[in-house]
Amino acid sequence: MPFRCPHCGNKTRFDVIETIHRKRFHHYSLGGDLEIESEEILDRVIEEVRCRWCDRSDGIEVVGPESIA
Ligand SMILES: [Zn+2]
Repeated sequence: MPFRCPHCGNKTRFDVIETIHRKRFHHYSLGGDLEIESEEILDRVIEEVRCRWCDRSDGIEVVGPESIA
């Protein structure tokens, strides 16, 4: 769990607004189907993390790495 809300103790539910620049290898079949063969994250900026429980975005603590789905 990458975040923790110091106001209510929530560690599991957040709205995360972020900008991601990424490079992907798009491999199309001759039939037009797309397969993503690789992805590289070039840049990633988290603009806001807001607690879903108490609706506050100030003071949210980063307590671990966040994976990118
Ligand atoms: Zn909270």
